Amino acid sequence: MRDFTYTANPARVLFRSGSLAMLPDEAKRLDASRILVLSTQEQHDSASRVAALLGSACVDIFPGAVMHTPVATTEQAVARVAELEIDAIVAIGGGSTIGLSKAIALRTDLPQIVVPTTYAGSEVTPIIGETRDGLKTTQTTLKVLPEVVIYDVDLTLGLPRGMSVTSGMNAIAHAVEALYARDGNPIIDMMAVEGVGAMARSLPLIARDAADQEARSDAQYAAWLCGTCLGAVGMSLHHKLCHTLGGRFNLPHAETHSILLPHALNYNAPAVPAALAALASTLDDPHPAYALYRLAEGLGAPLGLRDLGMPEGGIDEAADLAMSNPYWNPRPLERDAIRGCIAAAWAGEPPQSLDSR
Ligand code: NAD
Repeated sequence: MRDFTYTANPARVLFRSGSLAMLPDEAKRLDASRILVLSTQEQHDSASRVAALLGSACVDIFPGAVMHTPVATTEQAVARVAELEIDAIVAIGGGSTIGLSKAIALRTDLPQIVVPTTYAGSEVTPIIGETRDGLKTTQTTLKVLPEVVIYDVDLTLGLPRGMSVTSGMNAIAHAVEALYARDGNPIIDMMAVEGVGAMARSLPLIARDAADQEARSDAQYAAWLCGTCLGAVGMSLHHKLCHTLGGRFNLPHAETHSILLPHALNYNAPAVPAALAALASTLDDPHPAYALYRLAEGLGAPLGLRDLGMPEGGIDEAADLAMSNPYWNPRPLERDAIRGCIAAAWAGEPPQSLDSR
């Protein structure tokens, strides 16, 4: 018998090739007539395309989204929102652009339509991380949950191969940790298993042919499922490690997730037999931590934190950070074992106890 509490987050999700064309109707549904479109500088062209599609309902583009949602950028955007009397936000891009959109919604309560172009999953979570003076803090509030998510596979075809595979591994990490979450439940478990399987099957196809629309669609479907897992249940060691190491050593988000995931899962493995069995089944491999390492390796993803610029001398500090501000984890936090995981992840070695295979 299994006891659980399940709270579903509200979501309106449009999922199909060409769905960006549905954006004007979605804006009308929200009674939006003075829209600010958000993007990064790199995706300014995509934002211009969105603006053209919205016609007179688009008042301006703010192409200033950057990684880790710095409060100073948000304040600039919020000033534009006030100045232009904006009544809705449209964000096109990955987690960074969606983060800015959420940060604006947090301060203004404006409705958001988001058009994700990576597999990070932020579009379906009520979570917002913001950075002030180099310190990233995270909060969870339904105020930041986007009203509409438009998944248009065609917008992901140009996501560079390297970013595609690490972003996909980032998505898998959400589902893996959902499978052993303290507040897990059978609905989220189903989504997690389906999400991990669909992503693990599609990434090798995308690595071979980045324009494989069928595989891209499967990956986007998986990203939605995995993001929903992240938004519904609590995360543990893996997400904590990525958060603290990313912030302390200025490591890129998706790559850090991709590298650490096999090691964090390996650490928790003895405490989570049911999650391991589910992962073994969906990955079709009796050793899920090693299977994820091999998947990343086969995809040509970076395997070592040292490849991302983390200094070797940072391993001990990282272990101390992982032990600070205690948080729930299925296996109690043991500094030496955690240090071992970080050291293996730093060197790009396979998950420790399996490296003799
Ligand atoms: P990102 O949004 O930073 O994108 C990386 C780069 O790729 C950017 O320059 C972006 O413009 C570009 N890009 C995105 N899609 C593209 C495409 N299809 N084609 C070409 N270029 C494209 O990367 P990300 O990994 O999606 O997001 C990382 C950020 O999101 C981090 O700050 C992370 O903390 C946050 N995040 C938050 C949540 C949450 O629930 N709050 C979840 C996941 C990630």
